[in-house]
Amino acid sequence: MKHRLLILPGDGIGPEVVGQAVRVIEALQQRHGFDCELTQGLVGGAAIDVHGSPLPDETLKKAETADAVLMGAVGGPKWDAIPREIRPERGLLKIRSALGLFANLRPCLCFDELAGASTLKPEVLKGLDILIVRELTGGIYYGQPRGIVQENGERVGVNTERYSESEIERIAHSAFTFARLRNKRVCSVDKANVLESSQLWREMVEKVARSYADIELSHMYVDNAAMQLVRAPRNFDVLVTGNLFGDILSDIGAQLTGSIGMLPSASLNLSGKGLYEPVHGSAPDIAGLGLANPLATILSLALLLRYSLKKKMLADKVEAAVKAVLAGGLRTADIARAGEKSISTSEMGQAVVDQL
Ligand code: NAD
Repeated sequence: MKHRLLILPGDGIGPEVVGQAVRVIEALQQRHGFDCELTQGLVGGAAIDVHGSPLPDETLKKAETADAVLMGAVGGPKWDAIPREIRPERGLLKIRSALGLFANLRPCLCFDELAGASTLKPEVLKGLDILIVRELTGGIYYGQPRGIVQENGERVGVNTERYSESEIERIAHSAFTFARLRNKRVCSVDKANVLESSQLWREMVEKVARSYADIELSHMYVDNAAMQLVRAPRNFDVLVTGNLFGDILSDIGAQLTGSIGMLPSASLNLSGKGLYEPVHGSAPDIAGLGLANPLATILSLALLLRYSLKKKMLADKVEAAVKAVLAGGLRTADIARAGEKSISTSEMGQAVVDQL
């Protein structure tokens, strides 16, 4: 079956890192029977320069008909002064909401070879492999009422944490489904001792859990979860939480893995279609210098193969190739230790291709 992939390089280091992921796709086509058709599209500043919009209709149409989307990053100083509504980052928010990408998955995997690159002790991190599932299109970031209002002669800032039963149910189903592909444990993180929205969250997660008798469910308050993530992160398997708590906890997760250049992500909708992208931004400070680490994007491609295309074997091969490259001692500058030799973006891409 031929798969259709949309490639959105974006801005800054986006085209450089995505270029390496495309080489990996080509290697899978040539050597591992991967049948796919690639289309390219414009997003972010690159799209503003050509179409005056960060997400042109043409790109959105391509995204709607593709099986999955692989993106680099958007934004940069060139577009910082333009109106907020058409800034590059708006393109990203628009594509997420247009495709209904409510489930954000951030695997936090510490390659043993890089355990020394984190600020935490290597013995706490060795073998770390957890998955944070964050609800991405609801909660306090979207809840109404919101704003800054005048009350009793002073200004009051207002935001609303809000989750409906159906929003909680669908993200809980995602978490349990992914737990089935892993170690079959879900920890739901909330603040049910204080917040009514969290009480409903807990109730609905428990209701959904009844359909997944093979999965072990536990609950944890978010303050404790933050502490446990740095104390004993390997005790988690799948951690599911709302938009705000997920935003914060997933950045703790990022720090566990050593470098932002290693972190992939997936944002999925109900049909399993997804947008896959590295967690990092367009890194204008190193754009065009061949210094960017392409592994986060290559690992995002592995997620795309695993989650949207159900090509587990190919995903395993890509992840194994990355691991082998690191085990061989190859490092881009961001993951090299002081005095260690580093290689360029394209040399790292080539090394992964060679492993495949
Ligand atoms: P950033 O992630 O681009 O960079 C932060 C630091 O990490 C920089 O020092 C950068 O050089 C380094 N870095 C990032 N990716 C790297 C990689 N692959 N290899 C080696 N080093 C890497 O964050 P920022 O500087 O805050 O933002 C720059 C631009 O990116 C802004 O316009 C911002 O809005 C945008 N941004 C986009 C996304 C996205 O597209 N999803 C996410 C975050 C930021």
